Amino acid sequence: MGSLDDMARAKLADLESRRLRRRFVETDRRAGAYVERGGRTLVSFCCNDYLNLGHDPRVIKAAQQALEVAGAGSGASRLVTGNHSLFRELEGRLARLKQADDCVVFGSGYLANLGIIPTLMQAGDLILADELSHACLLAGTHLSGAKTFRFRHNDLDHLKTLLEEHRGQARHCLIVTDGVFSMDGDLAPVNEMAELAKAHDAWFMTDDAHGIGVLGEGRGSSFLQSEKAAVSLQMGTLSKAIGSYGGYLCASQPVIDLIRTRARTLIYSTGLPPASVAASIAALDIIEAEPDYAKRPVEKARRFTRALNLAEAQSPIVPLVLGEPEVALKASTFLEEQGFLVTAIRPPTVPEGTARLRFTFTAQHKDADIDRLADLVRSHVLTRAAAE
Ligand SMILES: *Cc1c(COP(=O)(O)O)cnc(C)c1O
Repeated sequence: MGSLDDMARAKLADLESRRLRRRFVETDRRAGAYVERGGRTLVSFCCNDYLNLGHDPRVIKAAQQALEVAGAGSGASRLVTGNHSLFRELEGRLARLKQADDCVVFGSGYLANLGIIPTLMQAGDLILADELSHACLLAGTHLSGAKTFRFRHNDLDHLKTLLEEHRGQARHCLIVTDGVFSMDGDLAPVNEMAELAKAHDAWFMTDDAHGIGVLGEGRGSSFLQSEKAAVSLQMGTLSKAIGSYGGYLCASQPVIDLIRTRARTLIYSTGLPPASVAASIAALDIIEAEPDYAKRPVEKARRFTRALNLAEAQSPIVPLVLGEPEVALKASTFLEEQGFLVTAIRPPTVPEGTARLRFTFTAQHKDADIDRLADLVRSHVLTRAAAE
């Protein structure tokens, strides 16, 4: 028959047979690092709310106040009537934090990348992207129509070779990478990449979704060395350590002015709810006032990697690659039975054969919980993975 439903059922059956079907599981987050699922309270080691600011009373109060005065939604695109005055405050705060001229806030990080890249790059241009870049960086790249090559993960030599081979034929060239890799937790060599970009007349963009709030005193991965990395396009999200929702780009004045007037995901999409914007501002207040608090997620992650003799964590994200989806799913189910929520990450989010547990650490995780989790991983997950 070839009906729509038959097509959907056939695709689902195929995914099911390869253990790649995904389902929503109702999960209610609570203050701290706790969640409720299926009537049980679990300690979550898979939220990106690294500073637990989503439940911070100061953040909630700021959101409530904005909600009561400005309402639940923003009513229109920011270029029509959706540009509540809180947006200007948030953009000014982010620009200051990132030491950029200006900033523009989008509806989400995904929307930001889909808007920024095609505004800057077109056919005739060249984009070089780390092969493990987040799906939305690659989607923005694809949408732009620019010729694109992926360089091997964090491989400066490969990037240099591609620049030498292809830069000459292109009008403009953009290098893009995650600052902190979302599924691996390692860091891009941003200072070195910025130098390569400069030497080859290329522009440089980092997606710092997992860096803002937790690295470089909360400023992100451009600020890890004594000298700020020359990243002309600093993109990120407000949905992780900032605890709220939205995406941003910090850059020079002309670039931000161009994005404001041309990025389609900004122009043709409704502005964020004012309460989300207010929550982000309150979260930035806390991060700027308490730089030691911003260090805690990485410290907690290091407690875990030390306990298991893994490579020292560079960010709040610690992967444990297990191989086949089935193995990762079993390990996740086992940990959930023990009271820990650690979602299995499977292809296509990660490359084939690298299904994994992805642990994320937050400021308010209790050391005793981290130690118990490490014990369980050592005694049950690692030994079983080795036996299979
Ligand atoms: C989560 C994530 C995004 C998307 O941000 P949202 O605000 O959740 O849409 C973009 N890039 C990276 C690297 C991410 O991890």
